[in-house]
Amino acid sequence: MGRVLGIRLWLHASWFLVAGLAVWATAGAFKEAFPRLPLTERVLMGVVTAACFFACLVTHELAHAVVARRFGVRVHGITLFMLGGVAEIEGELPTPAKEFAVALVGPATSLTLGAVFALLWRTASAVGWTGVEGVTFAVAAVNLGVAVFNLVPGLPLDGGRLLRAGLWRRSGNFEAATRTASAAGRIVAVLLAVIGLGAAASGDIAGLWYVPMGGFIFLMARSAGHAPAPGTGGALAWPDESALRARRKGHVRGSTWPDVPGEAPGEGHLPHPQWDPRARRGPG
Ligand SMILES: [Zn+2]
Repeated sequence: MGRVLGIRLWLHASWFLVAGLAVWATAGAFKEAFPRLPLTERVLMGVVTAACFFACLVTHELAHAVVARRFGVRVHGITLFMLGGVAEIEGELPTPAKEFAVALVGPATSLTLGAVFALLWRTASAVGWTGVEGVTFAVAAVNLGVAVFNLVPGLPLDGGRLLRAGLWRRSGNFEAATRTASAAGRIVAVLLAVIGLGAAASGDIAGLWYVPMGGFIFLMARSAGHAPAPGTGGALAWPDESALRARRKGHVRGSTWPDVPGEAPGEGHLPHPQWDPRARRGPG
């Protein structure tokens, strides 16, 4: 759908479904917080909230992509889809420190955006701009949620990459670090699905959202566990061709990333299955 900072941006069809749901859910949540606002105004607030969140998610992915590109890694593009966004970069980062930096900059960006929107919320609240107050609160909350959720230490989440980078640095063994972080990711995925089912069983239907999310993280964690070591040739940031081929094979075998537009994902992308409908509530 376009380019930002020279990075291609794709919008998956499933995003529109979720954007529609988000507007509907946010407008509904605003009804509880601001019962006297007319429907049209609440729907408008929902649209603005969804648009702001969309922009924040792109910013999070762009942060990963731009830092990866600075380290000389090729960036294919950014895709937004149902469960979040994904920055597709080619291969793995060449050193633990670089992987750590690329992984950390995403949650740091979301945290910063959350703080900025929280500040706007306090300002709007003080001035008495009800509509702006609701929108900024929701966007601040969802950004903080994105930052915290993605710091959970299991692949394919950013926190899993931080974990792997730490283990990799300590042991010098990329494969072993990857296996551990991938196992942690699968545990996180199972816990997420169990928590979702538990919430649904106790009447919170929104909890069902965590079941496909858990499944997605599980598959991605398993696929990430097969990642071959990057070409660690000092300044050589680009993985060699054989590593890429093995990775493609690994992708075909291990990953079930569905129809993401563009080309073969599964190659060192940084997924963010981070949509949390329950974090989207307005104040109150
Ligand atoms: Zn991220």
